[in-house]
Amino acid sequence: MSNFGSVNDLSCQIGFMERVRSLLSEIYQNPPKAHIVVYGCQQNVSDAEKIRGMLKTMGYEMTDDIEAADFIIFNTCAVREHAEQRVWGNVGATKNYKRKKENLIVAVCGCMAQEEKTVERFKKSFPYVDIVFGTHVLHRLPEFVYRRLSGSGRIFETSTEFADIVEGLPTERDRDIKAWLPIMYGCNNFCTYCVVPFVRGRERSRKPEFVLEEAKKLIAEGKKEITLLGQNVNSYGKGEEHGVNFAKLLRQINALEGDFRIRFMTSHPKDCTEELLLAMKDCEKVERHLHLPMQSGSDRVLNAMNRRYTKEKYLSLVARAKELMPDIELTSDIIVGFPGETYEEFLETVDVVKQVKFASLFTFIFSPRANTVAAKMEDPVSREEKGKWFTQLLKVQEEIAAEQNENYLGKTYRVLCDDFGSKEGFLSGHTAGCAVIEFEGYKNLIGQFVNVRVDNVSKVLYGTII
Ligand code: SF4
Repeated sequence: MSNFGSVNDLSCQIGFMERVRSLLSEIYQNPPKAHIVVYGCQQNVSDAEKIRGMLKTMGYEMTDDIEAADFIIFNTCAVREHAEQRVWGNVGATKNYKRKKENLIVAVCGCMAQEEKTVERFKKSFPYVDIVFGTHVLHRLPEFVYRRLSGSGRIFETSTEFADIVEGLPTERDRDIKAWLPIMYGCNNFCTYCVVPFVRGRERSRKPEFVLEEAKKLIAEGKKEITLLGQNVNSYGKGEEHGVNFAKLLRQINALEGDFRIRFMTSHPKDCTEELLLAMKDCEKVERHLHLPMQSGSDRVLNAMNRRYTKEKYLSLVARAKELMPDIELTSDIIVGFPGETYEEFLETVDVVKQVKFASLFTFIFSPRANTVAAKMEDPVSREEKGKWFTQLLKVQEEIAAEQNENYLGKTYRVLCDDFGSKEGFLSGHTAGCAVIEFEGYKNLIGQFVNVRVDNVSKVLYGTII
């Protein structure tokens, strides 16, 4: 408890934000600067928007220049080894900045900061890191900054006891046209390769009224695309008393007034129900895109991954989605070289990829993660061999994507113009599926929906506004 009540209450953290603001005005003549480094998934990007909101309320100005910052925070990812290595290197570099700037505060949060071993390493080998805090206590950042600024020792807070969701934290979004909208946190699935349930905890869903309120606010601010976020959005509302599941939530958001689109990620195939597919079909604002991570096309490997569906179940889901929504575009995640996977099993994955014809694939070579079951499994296939399989799969997908691109030719799409194109004078935008089309146009179109006919197909789709 603090003088403002429980540290987990918003009012308490608002109190700390005010205290930090007043402390900063005593220490600095001009507003101090903060820099956020984000690794990993959209959930981390969304969390960074809250971190930015809290820092700004505390009186920090944001800077893109890490060396100019008085407060540096790393929002880390533990899903793959490569991302972790980058964190160690980049956090290590702050040692020099700290030598030059005595008041500099360095903080680390996110999934790596929730792992005991990692936190121990920060304690012992990174003495210049001031604050390390896990995913469950993100809302307590103001309190940690206040404690450190007022002379407390280094802070390490990785408690998982607090399992509620703190609503109402200040949020500073980093995009004008599109927005992330978290609807749930954590995961209950324990896929054997995945560290998420260990670092993000069990599933907790936001109350539908809070989600709807935030969606309305985003629409009023002029956002044209809202992406509902969760590790497994399909299990939204499970175990909650409000009785709103993900399909119902989609329908409720779809019913809000305004010209906007709804995306969502990620969907676990085992929880992708007929009710959800029907909701997608009926909701005109829900995009015709389903990201459905398959991971493997082999039943034995799927079982070893604890995915709880079969190749047949996956294919029947895809068939039903295509039957209900013939224009739907599918994307997927695939792990190549799961421990014990044989070449024949890998070829089953290739077979499913050829059958489904995904619009695009996110393909990864298996990366063992501490604490997971898969990290202890025998893994006789060499990295080099897995690399060959990986290349083979990419080639198959490239051929499929090129073939799929031909289908766009001559057709007209309603596109959300969201960026400049790759050529001078060109803009780019997304269809309601997941295709990107480039077309000539003035920059005032960015943020608007336009109709574009595709008239040139190569690796990039080119079109003309009609
Ligand atoms: S569903 Fe599986 S892969 Fe996805 S976050 Fe949960 S445990 Fe990880």
